[in-house]
Amino acid sequence: MLPARFDYERPSSLADALSLLEQHGEDAKVLAGGMSLIPLMKLRFAAPAVLVDINDLPDLNGIAESDGWLRIGALVRHHDVEQSDVVHSRYPTLAAAAPLISDPLVRNRGTVAGSLAHADPAGDWGAVMLSVGAQVAAQSAGGLRVIPIQDFLVDTFTSALEPNEVVTEVRVPAPTGRNGGAYLKMERKVGDFATVAVAVSLAMEDGRIARAGIGLTAVGPKNIRAADAEASLAGAEPTAEAFAEAGRLAAAAADPQSDLRGSADYKRNVVSVFVQRGLAQAAAAAASAN
Ligand code: FAD
Repeated sequence: MLPARFDYERPSSLADALSLLEQHGEDAKVLAGGMSLIPLMKLRFAAPAVLVDINDLPDLNGIAESDGWLRIGALVRHHDVEQSDVVHSRYPTLAAAAPLISDPLVRNRGTVAGSLAHADPAGDWGAVMLSVGAQVAAQSAGGLRVIPIQDFLVDTFTSALEPNEVVTEVRVPAPTGRNGGAYLKMERKVGDFATVAVAVSLAMEDGRIARAGIGLTAVGPKNIRAADAEASLAGAEPTAEAFAEAGRLAAAAADPQSDLRGSADYKRNVVSVFVQRGLAQAAAAAASAN
């Protein structure tokens, strides 16, 4: 199908983009990689009167550490994360997830920020960002809001963004101490959305777990933070028993639907197994980290 008729704006400054969003309100949509918005428009699930293309905005392309954060600009593509040296050396959960997102075509165009703004419960970045405790910076003409990821992901295809806001960057806390991470994704075939996926991030101190982050993909109305499982690991030794209990608690936090990809019980079981495997991988990586 063809999209409904729309106007197209390609501002060259953030101020102009924000002014267009103020002017058109809910009739406008930000266009980044277009990997989710354009299919929705073609299916007529979305029919914005105006597209505000942010691809010419300066300064939104960077992925770099500063002031204790890894700052991922709004135009950073999945492929940029996949190729990033700093991500590979210091952000293992992001490094594990990036190559598992769809296929090279989508990874070359789609953005991390767009993925979070789209708030698809089957999106991979939501779970990853929950596991690392990320924040989203959203700019409007009225100022900047910094939103913790668990508040940013509100519901199915619903983020905390207002129509007049542009995500300018996603902030991931810089790791301290010994770290490990993993992203385990079950998909029907390479390039598919997850049937179930689990993001795990661990920080170790003196042989114990100082911080555990666990995010779940495609097993609820939005990406889920397995908070009880995280809490059960705080201060614990990285043993199989501790990981089994975290797997049990994470499975209890999941709220999957039975569908052609598997029953709800099966998906819950995959969550438990993936959490245990991910924690074991992350703990082993943290133990061997410099
Ligand atoms: P767009 O499509 O441009 O926009 C998506 C939404 O976010 C729109 O509502 C738009 O207004 C808003 N938006 C975008 N950027 C901003 C911003 N900076 N500020 C405010 N609002 C913004 N994703 C996965 O996670 N895992 C997969 O396995 C996967 N498989 C896919 C397979 C296919 C065939 C396709 C087409 C997509 C797949 N995706 C998958 C989705 C893909 O990752 C998209 O790139 C991502 O969801 C959206 O990023 P985008 O930059 O393309 O956003």
